Amino acid sequence: MKIDFDKMNGLVPAIVQDALSGKILMQGYMNEEALAKTQETGKVTFFSRSKNRLWTKGETSGNFMELVSMSEDCDGDAILVKANPVGPVCHTGADTCFAEVNSSKTGFIDQLRSIIKDRKNNPSDQSYTASLFAKGINKVAQKVGEEAVEIVIEAKDDNKELFLGEAADLLYHYLVLLEAKGYELDEVMEVLIDRHAKKS
Ligand SMILES: [Zn+2]
Repeated sequence: MKIDFDKMNGLVPAIVQDALSGKILMQGYMNEEALAKTQETGKVTFFSRSKNRLWTKGETSGNFMELVSMSEDCDGDAILVKANPVGPVCHTGADTCFAEVNSSKTGFIDQLRSIIKDRKNNPSDQSYTASLFAKGINKVAQKVGEEAVEIVIEAKDDNKELFLGEAADLLYHYLVLLEAKGYELDEVMEVLIDRHAKKS
C-alpha cells in the first residue's frame, strides 16, 4: 500500500466495510503505526484523537473487527478496510456507526465466486471445485440438475437442516456452472433488472 501520510499530516481516514455484507461499519483515522499494528495483529486499529494513542477497536468491549483486507484510494489519502466484526460495532450498541442493521451475509456470494474462479485458474488435487471443472461442462450441468432434484425432494419434506443443505448445494453448483460457461453473476442480474424494468 502507498499511503501519503505526510500529505495528511500523519492521519488518514480509514473507512471500515463489512467484508460479507458490504455495509459501511464505521470510520476512523490511522497513522503509520495504526496501519502497521492492524496488519500485524489482524485486528483493526486506529489512532484515537480523543485518547491520543493507538486504539484497537474492541480492546475493552471485545467487539473486535477482524481484518480481511486493506487498500488505498486513487490518490493514497484514504484507506478502505474490509473486516469481519465480532459483534456490534458502535459504542451505542448499534450494528454500525451509521445506525444501520447489518445482518445480510449475501455479500459472501462474491467471495465464493472469486474462490470458484481461483479454483478454475489454479487447480489443485484437493479441490472438489477444481475436480468439477476438470470433468467438463456436461458433468457440471448434470450436478446442477441432480441438486435441483434433491432440493425438490427436501421441499416436500419438513427438515430445515436438510433443506438448507440442499439449497446451499444448488447455489454453489449453479455458481460453478456460470463460471464453467464463462459468465458472470452480474450478467444474470442484468437480465433480471431488465425484466423488472419492463414490468414496472
Ligand atoms: Zn459508533
